[in-house]
Amino acid sequence: MGNITKTDKRFLNYAKKEAEKSKDPSTQVGAVIVTKENEIVSKGYNSFVTNASKSAMTWDRPMKYHLVVHAEMNALISADRSDLSDCKLYITHAPCSNCLKHVLQSGIREIYVNELGPGFERGTLDDLEAVCRMLAACKVKCQVCEEDDSDCAPPYEAMVMKKLIKEGRLKGKSFGAHSVLAGFQEDRSWVIDLSDDKIQEEHGDEPCRTKK
Ligand SMILES: [Zn+2]
Repeated sequence: MGNITKTDKRFLNYAKKEAEKSKDPSTQVGAVIVTKENEIVSKGYNSFVTNASKSAMTWDRPMKYHLVVHAEMNALISADRSDLSDCKLYITHAPCSNCLKHVLQSGIREIYVNELGPGFERGTLDDLEAVCRMLAACKVKCQVCEEDDSDCAPPYEAMVMKKLIKEGRLKGKSFGAHSVLAGFQEDRSWVIDLSDDKIQEEHGDEPCRTKK
């Protein structure tokens, strides 16, 4: 747990290549669905609906948020089957709660994210909390490779909490997921200590460490 293999890095690079196909002038996201035997099932990038008349569409915010099909959804739709429970998902950026619920509904339980990205930067606390809740509820392994200077990557929840604390976004607000996080994945035991402003690992078995 926590280790990012060369194969994982290769598929994250595929996701980045896929993202380059996006015509969104500001945010390019790519997703690749891969079987546990490492065969690519499908790929996707953020786009408008295929063959939509360009004159009716706009990349301007906030309208584009309503118009764009996210990379993960395009990858799900492009897959030649609906049951993807034998698959892993590689994405350039962390999923929004809407994409995540559909990803989980397909059966996928293993997700690798290159960086938190715009979903974290612009996502509401409710959206981030919903993502944490669904990951915990479905016991999903979701690792973020951002700031990964070794072959380890912390879980999504630890990265999100660390950033929220660092940016002061939790001040005067409650973030319900931290209580969910306390019991998250017994074999990992990340400590979310809001008073101490840091996240650390509780047990020594895990080689990864999230820096303050
Ligand atoms: Zn999404």
